[in-house]
Amino acid sequence: MEQIDNCNDDGIVYKIVNALFQMQNLETENKNMKNPLSLVFKEGPLTFFKSRIQNIYFEPESQVYCPERILAYVSSNEKNSMHICQTMTNSNDSVLKTISTLLHEAHHINGSKHVICTQGIIFDRETIEESKKRFACDDDYESQGSYGLETSFQLDIFKTTKDPIQHQLARSNVISNLFTRFNNLPLNVKQGQIVASHKKGVQFYPYSNYFNSNLIQKTESSLSKTQAPLPRQKPKNPLMDSNQFFNIWGTNSTINAYAVNGHKLYMYSTTGNVYYYNHTNSLYYANDGLSEYYKTNLSSKEQASLVDVFYQTFDIDYGCLLFTNYMACNEKDTTKIHRINFSNIKPYGFYLLKDPESRHELIYLIDQSFKLYQIPNQFSAFEKFTERDLFLFTETEKNQENEFEKDHNFIVDPLHIFSLLKSNQDVSLIKKVLSLPNDKILQKIKSDSTWILGPFYYSPKLETL
Ligand SMILES: [Zn+2]
Repeated sequence: MEQIDNCNDDGIVYKIVNALFQMQNLETENKNMKNPLSLVFKEGPLTFFKSRIQNIYFEPESQVYCPERILAYVSSNEKNSMHICQTMTNSNDSVLKTISTLLHEAHHINGSKHVICTQGIIFDRETIEESKKRFACDDDYESQGSYGLETSFQLDIFKTTKDPIQHQLARSNVISNLFTRFNNLPLNVKQGQIVASHKKGVQFYPYSNYFNSNLIQKTESSLSKTQAPLPRQKPKNPLMDSNQFFNIWGTNSTINAYAVNGHKLYMYSTTGNVYYYNHTNSLYYANDGLSEYYKTNLSSKEQASLVDVFYQTFDIDYGCLLFTNYMACNEKDTTKIHRINFSNIKPYGFYLLKDPESRHELIYLIDQSFKLYQIPNQFSAFEKFTERDLFLFTETEKNQENEFEKDHNFIVDPLHIFSLLKSNQDVSLIKKVLSLPNDKILQKIKSDSTWILGPFYYSPKLETL
């Protein structure tokens, strides 16, 4: 019989005990925190926890109240008890995130309840998997329900910690909570798209500057060929532009390519560094698999041949760097790299499409004549691919679905097209552009490549947090 050592440092008991010890440390270190935002630091983290929870139960795998994604729970029928699910063992959460989860659950003892998400990534995912809809949001940040409390707690950590890793971690948790866990976006946060180019740098356009609200709704719900929304006007008034950006950062380094990963804007610079913007006024150095590959494996000449980047998403478990002669892709959370050399394809960029029917994401490589090559969503399939398979895979898809050609004529998001237009006269080209990929209207000019990255959330107020 297999012996389970509850005290080994991979174990669930160790994880919780360690989190409680860290709560105690946080309480001691921050006794004199000035004007804490969270109730947690007003009371002290461990005091907050202990005054609500006296019993902790470790539940077996079979516990019905522990479905996928539930790490812990409290029940309104019991007083002062918390149940920890086995899913906690497998989660890669940091100690800080584990502490947050425990505080979040403890706060439920006071009766705070969640609502169904009506915006953000969780809302999007649950639209795909209707059966998985669950109460995973709070109405707003201000009323400090469990998500509000978690967020203000992490914000307090971000403001006070001297540990650079904790600082960065807390920031990421705050930002991700602010954008996904509240149905009323706090701090005047707007949803829109980043437009980046070699000439103009980075600009953020809220959706409301592209379309009237009626059309935004259509774009976001069921987008079909007949309903294709036409832009009302040329995008105007970026909420943010790079002058502001680069002033804040005090850097002017030239960027080879831009990408969005989660809520962060990544910049691959000509000096061989990779930075990211995380809604604060300092720049962070990236150290994910793709960034590391770019920084350590490539000559500056190879770095300069970078054309485009995409990061993993909910549906796609790997990310890729696209160069003029090849693409190199990295499986999420591993150091595995797969490289495809091009002898026929002349790459233009990646294109991520949310399929209007299934709402799932599909990823394409676009070549300079605007032919689209679909790439598999799973790294396990992709790592067997050569250039030839890209042609075959795309052909197979076409045969399986007769509608492919027709539907995918409208593959390019009108938001994407619109931001590429250079003058009002170009608006007349929209109809032609919509019949891509056969028309060759959009030509990427190396000196002014344009990236449309989105959706992206932005508010200048976040930088002041
Ligand atoms: Zn909760």
